[in-house]
Amino acid sequence: MHSPEQTCSLSQIGNHIAGAPATATSTRRQAVFDPATGAISGEVVLSNADDVSAAVAAAKAAFPAWAETPPIRRARLMNRFLGLVNQHKDALARAITLEHGKVFNDAQGEVERAIDVIEFACGMPQLLKGDHTEQVSTGIDNWTMRQPLGVVAGITPFNFPVMVPAWMYPVAIAAGNTFVLKPSPLDPSPTLLAAELMREAGFPAGVFNVVQGDKVAVDALLEHPDVAAVSFVGSTPVAQSIYETGARHGKRVQALGGAKNHLIVMPDADIGQAVDALIGAAFGSAGERCMAISVAVLVGTAADAVLPRLAERARTLKIGSGLAAGVEMGPIISAAARQRIVDGIGRGIAEGAVPVVDGRGLSVAGHEGGFFLGATVLDQVRPGMGVHREELFGPVLACVRVASFEEALAVVHGHEYANGVSLYTRDGGVAREFARRVQVGMVGVNVPIPVPMAWHGFGGWKRSLFGDMHAYGEEGVRFYTRQKSVMQRWPDSIAKGAEFAMPVAR
Ligand code: NAD
Repeated sequence: MHSPEQTCSLSQIGNHIAGAPATATSTRRQAVFDPATGAISGEVVLSNADDVSAAVAAAKAAFPAWAETPPIRRARLMNRFLGLVNQHKDALARAITLEHGKVFNDAQGEVERAIDVIEFACGMPQLLKGDHTEQVSTGIDNWTMRQPLGVVAGITPFNFPVMVPAWMYPVAIAAGNTFVLKPSPLDPSPTLLAAELMREAGFPAGVFNVVQGDKVAVDALLEHPDVAAVSFVGSTPVAQSIYETGARHGKRVQALGGAKNHLIVMPDADIGQAVDALIGAAFGSAGERCMAISVAVLVGTAADAVLPRLAERARTLKIGSGLAAGVEMGPIISAAARQRIVDGIGRGIAEGAVPVVDGRGLSVAGHEGGFFLGATVLDQVRPGMGVHREELFGPVLACVRVASFEEALAVVHGHEYANGVSLYTRDGGVAREFARRVQVGMVGVNVPIPVPMAWHGFGGWKRSLFGDMHAYGEEGVRFYTRQKSVMQRWPDSIAKGAEFAMPVAR
């Protein structure tokens, strides 16, 4: 932590409640860093239970009128928000780079993927349409409709401070809920910019609220009786605990967790394309993507074809400040995360992995205080080693050599995580079999990072997701609404007298 003197000139990053910046009652603060320089750029409030209650109360007060607002009018406001996000997309991307560190064009891509989901949410009137069956019995009709839940909360990770919240609040809000977002304290500013744009779009006060904070704020949300549902994205231990605690408090919960994504290269693959895919997917955003490829599974002769080219590209990657032109990889989010990754590489080498490229000694001229780490490629990794088991969430690519497709599939299936997976091949039969058999939530065939489009929904399997609904897409709409079934008949068709037998179609 920094000294009180330092705090005077630092930007203060606070809450946004009931359509305006809100002063927190909590006195706890956390430093926010520019990862490219290591300098403190601001401090964020760590909200307490009273601050969370204020946000939930604002959302609760806004809910009845918002839920009554016709879906088409809610969608029109979302469309205005869409226009504003498009207008300010570079400001959002810059805010991401300043606190997260990822390179500017990658941050622009993140904003574009957020825009996809906002566009999807603009179609909510169509998505909320129910089913209707006339004449389920003589003179009786039955229909289903989907209604909003109430106040819903989102808890999001540092690695996509604009996109991951946008998986949640546009869908939830367009469906008629009001929202409380608890972003990561590591890069809290982009969310406030989004909140400001929501206000400017004309959403009523209290429909979208932001509380900054850490576990204290999360626990307050999980225990709050007025929060109906919680969407979480982050690491697996926290996801599991949030799923269990939320469920214990009677909430609907979807909790997306960590990952270790494999990319299988078959000997018949286009090796140039496979190397490009591995470089971008392993080292883009410094490997801090839940869909990053962190394991290359090299089948047969693919290993010796891929590894020298991969090593050459990894060694010559342009690493520096995310705002500098031509840079391909920025810094790690924090000094602590950098150290954790460095330790993980060390353990992997101690277990027998061979460092073909070792990024640990990297220093970037002019940015000596930044949290930089070079690209690292480890060969001879075997399933079961820590460097294969653990999510390092950094620019480290573990390479596992196997003899066959079956063996490659077994490596993937042996892992506790099952978020994304990819296969590089020219063989359509193998590709088809892979897509059908692989036990992973999101699958790419000659696509390294198969993040589904906004209308398909995002989610892993196994310990990469707790809950049964994926984020956004139709699953997202289902998560943020509950089904009501109505059976109706009118007096002129009501049969005479009470019925004691189970009603059946007549
Ligand atoms: P994290 O789990 O540390 O934090 C996520 C959120 O939970 C943050 O808002 C944080 O403040 C809060 N939090 C942290 N510890 C907590 C605790 N003990 N109790 C309650 N709340 C707590 O994750 P992170 O480091 O911010 O993000 C990286 C992780 O997120 C990686 O594991 C990555 O794979 C995962 N992730 C998953 C997906 C996905 O869709 N599956 C997407 C993005 C990131």
